[in-house]
Amino acid sequence: MTKKIALLAGDGIGQEIVAEAIKVLNCLQQDFGFNAELETAAIGGAGYDQYGKPLPDETLALCEQADAILFGAIGGPQYDQLERELRPEKGLLNLRSSLALFSNLRPAILYPQLANASSLKSELVAGLDIMIVRELTGGIYFGQPRGIRVLDNGERQGYNTMLYAEHEIERIARSAFDIAMLRDRRLCSVDKANVLEVSELWREVVSRVAVDYPDVELEHMYVDNASMQLVRAPRQFDVIVTTNLFGDILSDTAAMLTGSIGMLPSASLDQNGKGLYEPVHGSAPDIAGKNMANPLATILSLAMMLRYSLEQSELASVVETAVGKVLDQGLRTADIADGAASVSTSEMGGAVTAALRVLGQR
Ligand code: NAD
Repeated sequence: MTKKIALLAGDGIGQEIVAEAIKVLNCLQQDFGFNAELETAAIGGAGYDQYGKPLPDETLALCEQADAILFGAIGGPQYDQLERELRPEKGLLNLRSSLALFSNLRPAILYPQLANASSLKSELVAGLDIMIVRELTGGIYFGQPRGIRVLDNGERQGYNTMLYAEHEIERIARSAFDIAMLRDRRLCSVDKANVLEVSELWREVVSRVAVDYPDVELEHMYVDNASMQLVRAPRQFDVIVTTNLFGDILSDTAAMLTGSIGMLPSASLDQNGKGLYEPVHGSAPDIAGKNMANPLATILSLAMMLRYSLEQSELASVVETAVGKVLDQGLRTADIADGAASVSTSEMGGAVTAALRVLGQR
């Protein structure tokens, strides 16, 4: 059956980078026999401009029907004065919660050609390929009660609650084990079970789920140690699964290991593997409209979509190989050029498409 892909370019550089991913999709359709129906819709500031709200009903309906969503970026200074509910960011948050996208995948891959961009010594990070699976809809960011209260002595006290029900732990654990099965079959579950009861339960449930995945090697690690190991010897990890709070922090640390924000894709999946795929970066208003944004994070997000939502692992690898070839050729957008000559957004997208065509002829 033909798959349906919703394309939500959004604001700022979102339009430019998604246009390059569409070139790649068209090439996959023409040269690789890939079959998909593509449909675009407005979100974020663009949704507000066209329909008066950041997640228009038409956009939500399209995303509900689609098998996968490719998202560019949202936001811009012209929307900063709007009331909170109308701001572009709300469009993305509402979309994530409407579609129950609880499993956030943040790969940290260091292309050998860019090893110098890392904040760590290249021998520590060359060949780095980690996948962090972060629980996205629960934990301390959503737990009740929360707030700031006044104590009897008049002093104010802030409080939040880290809550995880067994079913929430079980579904993120399954999502992570499934991903580990598609990779090197090693999973590290990160918690703080030596101090937090919620982590004790997390560890127990993850261990229980592991019984269904005998081919995956499971390890547990405390979050303080995990943060240390990520910068000491990051290549020891294959897949990391963790809570919303710990994942927020660890995935940003892992991102730094790779150097450039313009290279980092991500995905958020629901229980059935349907997903929203997007670059980690925002709408970059400082370079929007200048044809200088790096489209590779978006193109790599498309590769993730092929692998995790559309059961097209081989095509995903072909797209990733094409990106590697373009980097081998020495092509760099300004953000990864390290001051040397750079190519434009459209030239980079065109080069990936050309590399794909060559791979398609083999
Ligand atoms: P940003 O990620 O947009 O930009 C940070 C810096 O990285 C800027 O200097 C930018 O030029 C550069 N950069 C980002 N993406 C790049 C790319 N593909 N190629 C080259 N350089 C790139 O973060 P910000 O400046 O903090 O936020 C700008 C707007 O984006 C805000 O409105 C913010 O709310 C929004 N935002 C949206 C998302 C999202 O859509 N998921 C995420 C983060 C921020």
